[in-house]
Amino acid sequence: MKKVIIKKTEEIENWRRNIKKEINFIPTMGNLHNGHIKLISTAKKDNSNVNLVSIFINPLQFDNKLDLESYPKTIDNDIKISFSNGADAIFIPSNEDIYPPNNKNIKFLKAPIELSSPLCGLNRIGHFDGVCTVVYRLLNLIKPKNLYLGEKDWQQLLILKNLVQTEKLNVDIKSVPTQRDFDGIPLSSRNVHLSKNERKLIRFFSSELLEAKKIFQEEKKINLNEIIKKLSAKKISIEYLEHLHPHTLKKATTEDNISLVAGAIRCGETRLIDHVFLMKRRPIIAIDGPAGSGKSTVTKLIAKKLKLLYLDTGAMYRALSWLMIKESIDYKKEKKLQNILQDISIVFKSNTNSQQDVYINNYCVTEEIRSQKISSIVSKISSIKEVRKFLVEEQRKIGESGGLVAEGRDIGTTVFPHAELKIFLTASINERAKRRKSDKNSKESQEIELHTLKELIKKRDFEDSNREISPLIKANDAIEIITDGYSINAVVDKIIDLYNDKIPKETEIK
Ligand code: C5P
Repeated sequence: MKKVIIKKTEEIENWRRNIKKEINFIPTMGNLHNGHIKLISTAKKDNSNVNLVSIFINPLQFDNKLDLESYPKTIDNDIKISFSNGADAIFIPSNEDIYPPNNKNIKFLKAPIELSSPLCGLNRIGHFDGVCTVVYRLLNLIKPKNLYLGEKDWQQLLILKNLVQTEKLNVDIKSVPTQRDFDGIPLSSRNVHLSKNERKLIRFFSSELLEAKKIFQEEKKINLNEIIKKLSAKKISIEYLEHLHPHTLKKATTEDNISLVAGAIRCGETRLIDHVFLMKRRPIIAIDGPAGSGKSTVTKLIAKKLKLLYLDTGAMYRALSWLMIKESIDYKKEKKLQNILQDISIVFKSNTNSQQDVYINNYCVTEEIRSQKISSIVSKISSIKEVRKFLVEEQRKIGESGGLVAEGRDIGTTVFPHAELKIFLTASINERAKRRKSDKNSKESQEIELHTLKELIKKRDFEDSNREISPLIKANDAIEIITDGYSINAVVDKIIDLYNDKIPKETEIK
């Protein structure tokens, strides 16, 4: 594809018509560094869309005239960098192109107060309104499929995600972790203004944040005053330093598994921001839903794609049911049941086909627990108080350090109520019965008449949804996905997008 430079807004329309492909859009203000390069190269790697980089210093987002005038301009170099790292087109509009005088069609936006008033909003009045206005304008001109943004400006990223939602824009935001220079300070176009001494100070600030993160990993505690003291001792002027919820930007609480420590310091005329994410354990995804909703297939694929542990809690209830039948255990005699449960061990092991086998007391029961005999008794056994207490404890042990995706009926409500992402996966009864009928792993299901399968599933749904302890219900904060008419991959991609939206990419970096 011929690489092009577009300077006029009218040309964008023509260009878009000709390319016949979707667009990845990387907005910048120029003076490109490795942070921008990472955005462009990530977009190139992600898909085969056309990559458009824009270079436009947006006057609306500067609250300080001097800052705007001194903003570094390196256009020739920026063009070289963009093209050599994967840009197919560069859009370099003028001020008049983006904000034509007397053009009533420009929509001047206001960023939401909750997200724009803390942190950088404290001192940069109107900054985020300007960001929203220019990004909205550019998105309307370019109409990209994906918008690539850096996590370095985390608050801006949240505000733009909110903009996409509230304005119902048809674009996916992809975030890229903060890129750091050789000495650990976040790359920023404004770094060129730093003197040697100022650079030393910002290095100290960044290293203190990283140190706090390390301490948090050990002690699960953060002491902001300690950091403030150390910065003040170096005469570093702190604009803010806060410990917040990473999405609402409200004060962090002990409940938050992931939290954000964000700060801004002033070195001479230059203002610099940096942040770290603190995480108590790796993330957890909870996937609940009725029988045959596609949970297993979807959960396994998500585990593979996101490199998470896969936990099939239904298999644990099934394995226990298998053992009760095999050993003729009278599960109605509760006292005895408690003693029996104490000696039971259920473990998952990978087999040679890279699938999981389920073992109960060293019996491999992977196939046998899928029989109709087990399916017809498992709901009864799973409604017993002692059984649930035992298995929920086992499941929590497995998920103690996070990094897993668990499927079941009560994962989001009971087992992991603080899971970062909760999905309630469902489908119509017709669809679910059809899926069971064509389930390659269950010969038995294939042989049962469709209407009988429907009745069996309905019965199990009823028992699971109406039992006294942790019945199958959608958690308040779960996202419901009705899978009728959607391919498995479409559902998996949707859940991965939701996960990426919740979990900062930076938390994956050690
Ligand atoms: O998901 P699967 O069909 O294998 O689950 C079998 C049964 O185990 C469910 O019908 C339900 O009775 C029980 N179960 C449960 N809680 C879970 C997972 C499964 O009660 N978290």
